[in-house]
Amino acid sequence: MINVNGLSKMFGKNEVLKDISVSIDPGEVVVVIGPSGSGKSTFLRSLNLLETPTAGDILIDNHSITGKKVDIQAFRKEIGMVFQHFHLFPHMTVLENITYAPIKVKGLTKSEAEELGKELLSKVGLVEKADEYPNRLSGGQKQRVAIARALAMNPKIMLFDEPTSALDPEMVKEVLDVMKSLAHTGMTMIIVTHEMGFAKEVADRVLFLDDGQLVEDEDPQVFFSNPSSKRAQDFLQKVL
Ligand code: ADP
Ligand code: MG
Repeated sequence: MINVNGLSKMFGKNEVLKDISVSIDPGEVVVVIGPSGSGKSTFLRSLNLLETPTAGDILIDNHSITGKKVDIQAFRKEIGMVFQHFHLFPHMTVLENITYAPIKVKGLTKSEAEELGKELLSKVGLVEKADEYPNRLSGGQKQRVAIARALAMNPKIMLFDEPTSALDPEMVKEVLDVMKSLAHTGMTMIIVTHEMGFAKEVADRVLFLDDGQLVEDEDPQVFFSNPSSKRAQDFLQKVL
């Protein structure tokens, strides 16, 4: 579903992604792990063309997204993204946050979008918050709304960039639980996270990035118990 070939990204003279190649199958749940500054966010943002690669190619469903003729807006509809800091629209209710893009971009009627929105809110356990404004929600609730909002576009792929890093500890589980149930529906997911327990339990694969390089692409059981590189061993020693 996703083929990354020789992806490099420079910011000025700083090469933050170095010749990364990886393929991800439909329905795979891939966790991306690595030290701060190793290029995890830039990698994820490249998949959504929030960053333009300096070199290399990215294919989604065998279509290059890095060519000149790509319709970026059309392509982005296929990929949902969830950020560390939620990015909800503060002046819209929870339900309006979710229905906005389906109405604007997909041309759903208001009532179709609201039906969809309520269905998604019930999936993330928040139907009763449909008419609240984001500032009345906890962090965990905001993030679950952000997930529902991304799902409302019916994406083929969901990208998560440290979705629980800004949350108080007691709210981490409710968000991970929503992600876990999404994984069980067969969604293709790429998740940058420091939640090693979640990675062990839910991921099909772990990508370990260090200094812009893809150092390991491993089965989680192997990665966590017996990483082959010294760099991953050192990293795991610090975080586990
Ligand atoms: P991570 O998510 O693993 O912490 P990032 O992908 O955010 O790492 O950053 C990788 C490197 O790229 C860092 O050195 C960071 O300072 C640099 N970087 C990220 N975004 C930009 C940008 N827009 N302009 C310049 N440098 C950037
Ligand atoms: Mg990051």
